[in-house]
Amino acid sequence: MAIADQNPLKNPKKWTFTLRAKVMVTFLVLTLAPVLIIGYFSIYFSEALITRMVVRQLENVTEDKAALLQGWLAERVADVSMVAESSLVRSMDPARITPYLDLIREKYGVYKSLVVVSASGAVTGASPRDAALPSGSALQVPSLPPVSTDLFVSDITYANDEKESSFYIFVPVPGPNSQPNRQPAGAVYGNVGTQKIISFILNVSLGKTGECYLVDREGRFLAHRDPHRILTENISRSDSFRKIFEKTDRKKAYLDYRGIEVLGASLPVGDTDWFIVVEQDRAEAMAAAGSLRNVIYLTLLVFIASALMLTSLIAYHIVAPIRKLSRYAGQIAHSRFDTRLDNTTMGKTHRNDEIGKLSDALTDMARRLQERHARLKEKVGRQEAELKEADLILKKTRLMAERAEKLAAMGQMGAAVAHEIRTPLTSIKLFLESVQAEIEISPEYEEDFNIAMNQIGRIEATINRFLDFARPQDLRFAEIALKPFISDLLIMVRPQVNRQECVLVMELAENLPVISGDRRLLAEALINLLVNALDAMPDNGTLKVTAATDIFAVTGRDIPCVRIDIADTGHGIAPDQTENIFKPFFTTKATGTGLGLSLVLTTIRNHGGVIRVKSKIESGTVFSIFLPVSSDTPLDEITEKDKINGKNITD
Ligand code: ADP
Repeated sequence: MAIADQNPLKNPKKWTFTLRAKVMVTFLVLTLAPVLIIGYFSIYFSEALITRMVVRQLENVTEDKAALLQGWLAERVADVSMVAESSLVRSMDPARITPYLDLIREKYGVYKSLVVVSASGAVTGASPRDAALPSGSALQVPSLPPVSTDLFVSDITYANDEKESSFYIFVPVPGPNSQPNRQPAGAVYGNVGTQKIISFILNVSLGKTGECYLVDREGRFLAHRDPHRILTENISRSDSFRKIFEKTDRKKAYLDYRGIEVLGASLPVGDTDWFIVVEQDRAEAMAAAGSLRNVIYLTLLVFIASALMLTSLIAYHIVAPIRKLSRYAGQIAHSRFDTRLDNTTMGKTHRNDEIGKLSDALTDMARRLQERHARLKEKVGRQEAELKEADLILKKTRLMAERAEKLAAMGQMGAAVAHEIRTPLTSIKLFLESVQAEIEISPEYEEDFNIAMNQIGRIEATINRFLDFARPQDLRFAEIALKPFISDLLIMVRPQVNRQECVLVMELAENLPVISGDRRLLAEALINLLVNALDAMPDNGTLKVTAATDIFAVTGRDIPCVRIDIADTGHGIAPDQTENIFKPFFTTKATGTGLGLSLVLTTIRNHGGVIRVKSKIESGTVFSIFLPVSSDTPLDEITEKDKINGKNITD
């Protein structure tokens, strides 16, 4: 399976709360939370502060306006009192009063009319001339006091046909000093227009929406910059009214008579039932707060953008290398050592920080793992080869065991048959010999008789040989001095050598060691080889026998041994037959049994030795016998391994 499939870091589409996300979230929370809290409180407190400042300003204006209005009212009362107490008015002389009233009106300019009435209620002077008391005689107007009462300021009234609202100041005209109880001689009615109040007092400079108006206790407008509202509209249902009379939180904004959110303040005016109200639209009043809020929002935005950029930068410098390391570790885990983790890939330059150290440690670890991996691989390879070798040896051994078993069975059967044949054959032979002794065989049958006897002898020899082959060798070890041993054997074959006109060469080393072996079996084996060599050279040739100490070098081991070579110059062995010559019953001879070399091989092996053959067709054959000097190191076992490793002992 590909590594990528198992590595979540390589599959960014799969949603996991990655380290990068964690770093970003943590950093953003840590940096933005305080900023957001500070921003929120800045906005909150700045708005509260500005609200308090605005309300404070409105309260100051209200106080100023109330004081101004109160003073202005006092001035008007003083005006009318002065008129009432003037000697002209007290004289109640209509001819003199009217010009005086005109003069006063003209001088002060705030009086719509000035009327002097006598104690009987008759108008004794009026300015302007047609001025009249409201609803005719003042004394009959319920809202006006009788002339006998003291100074009085009326409610503000507004007549539709008039331009402005107005109110009356009533001041009694003192009677003559001689009169008991000082009964008033009449009264002065000063009708004061509110236009002046509006233009001089209610006119406020509080932005575009700031306004100042006057209401009475019922909430009716007494003075307002919109004259049509005066005494026709009522603010008793608005929050403004509740604010004035219910004393709600003065710092809070509320809805005014127009339904617009305003900030405001109110105060009663002196001893009157009038209330002065100063209000400003909240939107305008808090415009500064809005700007401040925008500045704070902008600052927050800039801060968030910077925090994001910083977070990305941190994520790049910390998380990206960690990702690389993690990917690299994944590859190591899958034994992929071909990829290299270069520390310079962690950043533009070699990093000396923790990431750099981690990267170095990982590279070092990967290198060690790779070395260990290679060592392990080599070891496993070696052990595998050994295992294969052991397996082959096992197979070979099993085959050999099977073959040995078969041969043993065959041998047993053959031996039984041979016995069965040998007994009657011996009887026949004995009978023929007794016949030969008893009766004279005519010369014409003599040759046949001899041939029959020879054939019987041959069968007997073959049977004996077969019985030798089939019988397990019972080795009787004894010390053998090789030089005399071999010399004696050569004497035995000398007649055949001579008969075939061959040359016998013998090269036996002087220092041949004494070996331990079965004298009879070794002699039989060597005779077999000598006879085979002579069989290969029926018409002359050279039989060379050499013996010397040697070193049997195999698989890096040198084993001391004795080497006996039997070389002939005969017809040689065909290459395709070389591997068969040691097999039982393989023979190329008309009268051969094919058991000779098989017996030789068994004998040499039983002595821990090895036999090798080299042959060239028409040139000759060399059989080499290697017998270990010490029987502790049998050569045949070593050569078995060699065979498995590809070396051919018959080469
Ligand atoms: P036999 O001698 O009865 O044939 P052996 O087992 O001794 O049986 O020999 C098997 C065969 O090996 C021989 O038939 C012969 O073909 C071959 N052989 C053995 N020795 C030699 C030799 N020196 N030169 C040529 N061929 C040989």
